Amino acid sequence: MCFTCRVTEDALTKTQDRRRDAGSVAPAPPVPPGAGTLLRLLRDGRPRTRAELASVTGLARSTVTQRVDALLAGGLIGPAGEAASTGGRPPTTFVFDPGARVVLAADLGATYARLALTDLSGQVLADTAADIEIDRGPTEVLGWVAEHGRALLAEAGRAPEELMGTGIGLPGPVEHDTGRAVNPPIMPGWDGFDVPGFIGGLLPGSVLVDNDVNIMAVGEHFARWSDARHLLFVKVATGIGCGIIADGAVYRGAKGAAGDMGHIQVPHGADVPCRCGNSGCLEAVASGSAIAAALTAQGIEAHGALDVVELARAGGLPVLRALRQAGRDIGEVLAASVNMLNPSIIVIGGSLSQAGDHLLAGVREVIYQRSLPLATEGLSIVSSQVGERAGVIGAAVMVIEHGLAPQRVDALLAG
Ligand SMILES: [Zn+2]
Repeated sequence: MCFTCRVTEDALTKTQDRRRDAGSVAPAPPVPPGAGTLLRLLRDGRPRTRAELASVTGLARSTVTQRVDALLAGGLIGPAGEAASTGGRPPTTFVFDPGARVVLAADLGATYARLALTDLSGQVLADTAADIEIDRGPTEVLGWVAEHGRALLAEAGRAPEELMGTGIGLPGPVEHDTGRAVNPPIMPGWDGFDVPGFIGGLLPGSVLVDNDVNIMAVGEHFARWSDARHLLFVKVATGIGCGIIADGAVYRGAKGAAGDMGHIQVPHGADVPCRCGNSGCLEAVASGSAIAAALTAQGIEAHGALDVVELARAGGLPVLRALRQAGRDIGEVLAASVNMLNPSIIVIGGSLSQAGDHLLAGVREVIYQRSLPLATEGLSIVSSQVGERAGVIGAAVMVIEHGLAPQRVDALLAG
């Protein structure tokens, strides 16, 4: 499924459905799958012969041969040995070549950036990370991405022309269609900045941008839960946000603001002010910075989410209690989301999820108590399995799914 092209593909299906429904009009002949559709089949990594491809697609052998040749010439597939012979010369099998192109992926946080070069299966070939504040502005931060992206290409021995594109996650709301940040609260200078235009001037290939929690949800879903159609990924760090995978694709909402759960009010936090201007927001009572501030007020010095993780590992009772309560607060908001969206997996990620099981236990406690039995039947609530690379893997997958969408592969091969 192509996340970015989903609408187009849905629209195509609907058009075909309408044609089928229109009784007075002769049905249009089915459009034969192109080379891009053949590639989509082969992306599962299983080698197939021309005869197998013809039988799966219903295409004539000569058409399959033509399309296999186009994919071979484009370097997107390669021969993978011979299948068992049924008499005569054994037929050649073909397989997707994930090394055909590379993708640059950037996960830009408030104070930390991670950059990776991957192949077309999302496998990391080279990566780097640095302490870099997002409030230094787009020119400096994106300049760093381009400069170190070129260094990663050199390190992996790949030419810039082999770059399919760059995927970028930003720590704020993003208008996905234009790749611009929209009123990001912690990113001065970024509002409306043309990220694809800037990166496109420095590196070849397409540029796709989303918010950091969405790309983490995509990365976690792709790497660990690809069979699950409905997943929520909750990032608990300096702030709190949620990435929604609905029916296998990112759900962004009308303006890209879906999943911004950090500013939903929790009942017991009524008089706690939040950086958004309201009070009682989930983020103001349960984020890493909120817990750090509450602990400091109790005489236990902590300056942010990472200090809270350290203190939790040391086993201090007030810290563990605070994490358990934060988990319950997050669970309160998530319980409503469980009833609304009926996910099968909830993943708790972000730096605070590394502080042990107390946060997760609090989340589970409230969700199972507060959500409807049908919605929690078969629901798993787990810690992130991919960890700190979830963001870059998700940013890479965003570019790969976009670039390998059948119609783009057909266009690419057509030159
Ligand atoms: Zn708020």
